[in-house]
Amino acid sequence: MLRQLRSMHVKAIKMGWLAGGDNYCYLLSTQDKTKSWLIDPAEVYEVLPSLDSNEKKSIEFIANTHHHYDHAGGNTGMLAALRKENIVPRVIAGSRISPSATDVPEHQEKFKLGNLLISCIRTPCHTQDSVCYHVKDPETNEQALFSGDTLFTAGCGRFFEGNAQEMDVALNKRILQGIGESNWSLTRVYPGHEYTKGNAKFVRKAVYLNPKENEHFDALEKFASENAETTGKFTLADEAQFNPFMRLDDPIVRKAVGDSDGSWNRVQVMDRLRKLKNVM
Ligand SMILES: [Zn+2]
Repeated sequence: MLRQLRSMHVKAIKMGWLAGGDNYCYLLSTQDKTKSWLIDPAEVYEVLPSLDSNEKKSIEFIANTHHHYDHAGGNTGMLAALRKENIVPRVIAGSRISPSATDVPEHQEKFKLGNLLISCIRTPCHTQDSVCYHVKDPETNEQALFSGDTLFTAGCGRFFEGNAQEMDVALNKRILQGIGESNWSLTRVYPGHEYTKGNAKFVRKAVYLNPKENEHFDALEKFASENAETTGKFTLADEAQFNPFMRLDDPIVRKAVGDSDGSWNRVQVMDRLRKLKNVM
């Protein structure tokens, strides 16, 4: 785990938690907090009261990680509320299915937020318009990944509009290889839902059955059992150590899916692993 980020601010806003939900909206701001992106503000009635007037004024973009209503469903209401205060952000999203989208980025298209550099990583699978936003402060090298419903801590999203091959590409090529191993330990992960406890339960039951098979996972499981909120607490380096969907060549993961002699291809492992998760 990393020390507190100093050059960028990430404020997690919980949505629907009192009703049993687990969604996150995020306000990503520059060091001086004069410029921000508001990511997935789905529940306007919960997000608006969580923002003070300076935070509202700082919003340059509303960004969606994908078009599902619990991520993009607040765009129009949020724009209407902000417009009353003469704040008119643009809306960046992976497709025009997201209401009021003004900007649909290409894979690896870059945006600037003050001194922060944001790269749009297109990760089609959960939905075809899924985008992860990778933020970097070029001066300090501090980084964050807003991973929507593509990457969860110790898990991944369901394949609603895609297949196992697309998720392997999304997680392991576009996110891990694309961001680069030297950046993994510097990149905090901010997923779209707080699913860590449930994911840890699955991994313990189906993959790393016994303590000490994967000590990184043991530590995650302990943290999740003691903390209701895990967002921003783990890095891509941690995920590469304990997330089975990012460890398709780990013999223990292969054994868990039924590939005891290691002869399956990666897509078969990914497909079977997700199916095991779906029925839990
Ligand atoms: Zn979704």
